[in-house]
Amino acid sequence: MTSTKNALLSEVASAIVDTDNKVTVVGVGQVGMAVAFSVLAQGISHDVVLIDCVEDKLQGEMMDLQHGSLFLKNPRINASTDYAASAGSRLCIVTAGVRQREGESRLDLVQRNTDIFKHIIPNLVKYSPNTILLIVSNPVDILTYVAWKLSGLPKNRVIGSGTNLDSSRFRFLMSQRLGVAPGSCHGWIIGEHGDSSVAVWSGVNIAGVRIRDINPVIGTEEDPEKWEDLHKNVVDSAYQVIKLKGYTNWAIGLSAASLAHSILKNSFHIHAVSVHVKGHHEIEQDVFLSLPAVLGGNGVTNIVNQCLTEAERQKLLKSASLLEEIQKNLKL
Ligand code: NAD
Repeated sequence: MTSTKNALLSEVASAIVDTDNKVTVVGVGQVGMAVAFSVLAQGISHDVVLIDCVEDKLQGEMMDLQHGSLFLKNPRINASTDYAASAGSRLCIVTAGVRQREGESRLDLVQRNTDIFKHIIPNLVKYSPNTILLIVSNPVDILTYVAWKLSGLPKNRVIGSGTNLDSSRFRFLMSQRLGVAPGSCHGWIIGEHGDSSVAVWSGVNIAGVRIRDINPVIGTEEDPEKWEDLHKNVVDSAYQVIKLKGYTNWAIGLSAASLAHSILKNSFHIHAVSVHVKGHHEIEQDVFLSLPAVLGGNGVTNIVNQCLTEAERQKLLKSASLLEEIQKNLKL
């Protein structure tokens, strides 16, 4: 007896099952799910695989997303603890990791997340040798270096989400002061995603009008309008949100999705992302820090040579030394 399906549908040709925009998200915590949701809701990929080591949560998150398929574009959403499910991914976004415990030093956290990466990164590369890795787990700059070392991938294909989020926070705060949309407030936060990030005040502009030409002391202690508070606020943002709700997720989800868009759509947009910076701005260390970079289907295609002031450059050099100091003690 023929099945209902066969009675209903006459096959003309077999369906193509492979897609060219498969994205794997490793870690289905607050950040991973915000990333997966943003990627799906914006139609950036219609083939998403979730990987985690906690089976029940993984299945629950997968089912919850699948139940929204009607409202998306019928994406393929799979989940597994087995990395074989990630095979053929064009982009792997790593959000897995532990959060800092009370009394735990930053270096301890780095080593704990490095140990987790020793399992994750080789498995991702094994099943998707042509993939691009986008690292989100913290401390993101050091873990991007760790992922680069563990993966053996060329530096254009290992990217950290870096200060794309910090720059977005900065532009939002600027927009609040000026009453202009964030997309029309141009400013870059570069360097470390963290306390030593650098606000490039020398380049902040609205419609090509450099704010420093209007207010020559902007971003300095002498500024009576205290614009530097915006940058201080950016640095404090994560602490503030974590204090209020326990974690940050929506903005980083959208930020990582914007990077996924530029990579998967080969769009050549410029983002502040964590890239291998040796040789740029006279940095001598083998470290990853955020600089404005062009992103496309091959990952990082170009790094923008920003005209930094000497003070801004010195701050970058300081971050580079700081990161190298921590990296030296890592057991890879
Ligand atoms: P979370 O605790 O909610 O989720 C972490 C997930 O990782 C959990 O589901 C856990 O099961 C999974 N995991 C742990 N070890 C694993 C392993 N070996 N293999 C697979 N999965 C594993 O944490 P979160 O709030 O989602 O944050 C995740 C990471 O993202 C943290 O390191 C956090 O600091 C970082 N983060 C980065 C940014 C940024 O701008 N780069 C912003 C926010 C958070």
